[in-house]
Amino acid sequence: MKHYIIPIFIPHLGCLHQCIFCNQKRITGRETPVTAEQVTAQIEERLKAVHRDRWIEVAFFGGSFTALPAAVQRDLLSPAHLALEQGRIHAIRLSTRPDCINGSIIANLKKHGVSIVELGVQSLDDNVLLKACRGHNSQDVIEATRLLKKSKIQCGLQLMPGLPGEDWISLLATVRKMIELRPDFVRIYPTIVIKDTVLAEQYSQGTYQPLTLSAAVARSAYMKLVFEQAGIAVIRTGLQATEELDSKASVIAGPYHPAFGELVDSHIFYLMLAAFLEQDVIGRRTEIGIRYNPKDASKIRGQYNSNIKRLVQRYKLTAFNLSPDSAVKNGSILLTLKGDNYLLNKNMINRI
Ligand code: SF4
Repeated sequence: MKHYIIPIFIPHLGCLHQCIFCNQKRITGRETPVTAEQVTAQIEERLKAVHRDRWIEVAFFGGSFTALPAAVQRDLLSPAHLALEQGRIHAIRLSTRPDCINGSIIANLKKHGVSIVELGVQSLDDNVLLKACRGHNSQDVIEATRLLKKSKIQCGLQLMPGLPGEDWISLLATVRKMIELRPDFVRIYPTIVIKDTVLAEQYSQGTYQPLTLSAAVARSAYMKLVFEQAGIAVIRTGLQATEELDSKASVIAGPYHPAFGELVDSHIFYLMLAAFLEQDVIGRRTEIGIRYNPKDASKIRGQYNSNIKRLVQRYKLTAFNLSPDSAVKNGSILLTLKGDNYLLNKNMINRI
């Protein structure tokens, strides 16, 4: 069943710290805090428009929900909880900080029907967390994840490659530790420089340099591959495009792209083909045939056919014949070479 999210933005509500990269008002395009009446109105409005055969979730994003006073949490959750009990929605999710989870907070969330919690983790390198002024450390993440899993609340972890102080070694260590935590899912949001943030000041002073778009795509593709090979779903790469972000008025620098997730998936297809073509058995100056699921057409080609051009050039291919074939599974490639067929998928890329 397809998902339908009713988003309720609570920009910076409950935040105990001002993280250097964050300006939720610019990310969400919302300036004022939400009230319980507005939550009710937003749910009713969206429910009128949604198709009945959708899995509907109310999602509180953009602040530190569980750092709010218990009475405010109750007021905001009550309309969603009522809709859940009436069978008009299927789940309630929210995002919060790792140091704002404990036994009594979890009990309160369960009482109000919350079944999915996403933690803003960003990194498991304490040095990176310190530089980002997160106000919590990696141990807080480990403990919060343990408590959520123990209470059978689905736990999602959000990561931000490209923060100050992070390099490949730090990123690899974060990914390995995250896999040990066994979250239910992961989101990957490469760091971008948003106006009116400390990071924007650091960027203008020349003390912070964001990842280029291609570096962010490469890091995100690596992370997505490794998580998925470990059986952990990656449900998003890159920020959701909004008018505010697309207008360029808010993003000063960094790897923002409205179709970032598509770029990552496209890079993974490139890696699948490159990993195969690297094998000596293939030889050089040859031609290959590629059959793929029609849904993957743009990802296989890459933006402006970039995947095809790079592969043809690097492996000296004389022909690269592409044919859509709905019999090929989504995400897989049937490659024909010298009369033989090879089925490729992302699990075949060597684990790093
Ligand atoms: S990243 Fe999260 S905790 Fe930090 S300021 Fe933004 S909303 Fe608040």
